[in-house]
Amino acid sequence: MAKRRSSTARKRAKKAAPSEKSRRQTKAAGPRATKASAKKAPSKKSAAKKSAPKNAAAKKIAPAKAAASRRARKPAFDARLDSANDPSWIAPVWDDDLLLGAHVSTAGGTHNAPPRARAIGATAMQIFTKMANRWAERACESDECHSFRAALGDTRVRATIAHDSYLINLASPDETLRRRSIESFVGELQRCAALGLDYLVSHPGNFIDDRASGIRRNAEGITEALARAPGQTILCMETTAGGGSSIGSSFEELAELIALIPEPYRSRMAVCVDTCHAYSAGYDLVNAYADVWAQFDDALGRERLAVLHLNDSRTPFASRRDRHELIGEGSLGERAFRHIMNDERLERVPKVLETPKGTDPTATDAKMLARLRSYRSA
Ligand SMILES: [Zn+2]
Ligand SMILES: [Zn+2]
Repeated sequence: MAKRRSSTARKRAKKAAPSEKSRRQTKAAGPRATKASAKKAPSKKSAAKKSAPKNAAAKKIAPAKAAASRRARKPAFDARLDSANDPSWIAPVWDDDLLLGAHVSTAGGTHNAPPRARAIGATAMQIFTKMANRWAERACESDECHSFRAALGDTRVRATIAHDSYLINLASPDETLRRRSIESFVGELQRCAALGLDYLVSHPGNFIDDRASGIRRNAEGITEALARAPGQTILCMETTAGGGSSIGSSFEELAELIALIPEPYRSRMAVCVDTCHAYSAGYDLVNAYADVWAQFDDALGRERLAVLHLNDSRTPFASRRDRHELIGEGSLGERAFRHIMNDERLERVPKVLETPKGTDPTATDAKMLARLRSYRSA
């Protein structure tokens, strides 16, 4: 992939000459960046081979081997390969009013996220405020909040978003898990308030036993958490792909959930539409674009739309699966994103990427943002 090539190219030419720098910049963020690279990236297969056990006895432990090969397929993040840490990287600056960016890493602390957002020319930024796949809680102390806000002030980011932990299930019928989820969710809201983030995006829960009870438990959990964690952060329920017993794959179901939350808390509720999830859930953003938004308006009202996650999908329409793909390279394809990027009614809605980042997140995300902008008709 192109990002891989640019990182290896950078390693080859340790000190880039100015002409090389600007060429790379064009490659990363210019219109040509939309062309897929024909150059072969180092084979993923060989990486998988390396980490796979070699002896015959290991064949018996197939699940472990499968897990190892899954890990091998997903390259570990190596900060040295990220263009954000390359002193010769030129951050793109866009002369428009779009609120467009990506989910960026907070590795090393939340104050490291804003420079990463600046490196991709972001005007909107999403982060995790803690490890998303761990229960371990943490609070944002004032030192951290100061550093974060100062770093943010040094960017053009005007919309800040947190995504909550993947473990939280406020709809669970298991009271222990649900209690733990509520405590964790309160922590999410408190960190958002401390850092001064505009939005918290949250996946509705999984009902497990019965849908109606699950939605009710979900609403009660949200209500309790909002009551315990006052603040300005808007809570955005994200549309889901609808796999398993997940709540929120239809606009009507999100509306039902929000309606169960009493005022004044309901006023803090909004919706995040994820293009990959919506398409997988059966909303045809490619061929029935206007219809999809008409359905949204009927069920929820457009004023509830606060955030968009721009992701292409690795799986077909209505697959009910959640597998993100690079913009224009999945089943949604260029057409859906052309609709979105030229939709005046979505102009002021912050849009963030959650697309695969490869080995060089900064170069990849910068390329995706340039690609999205290239879809805008003049
Ligand atoms: Zn999403
Ligand atoms: Zn997703």
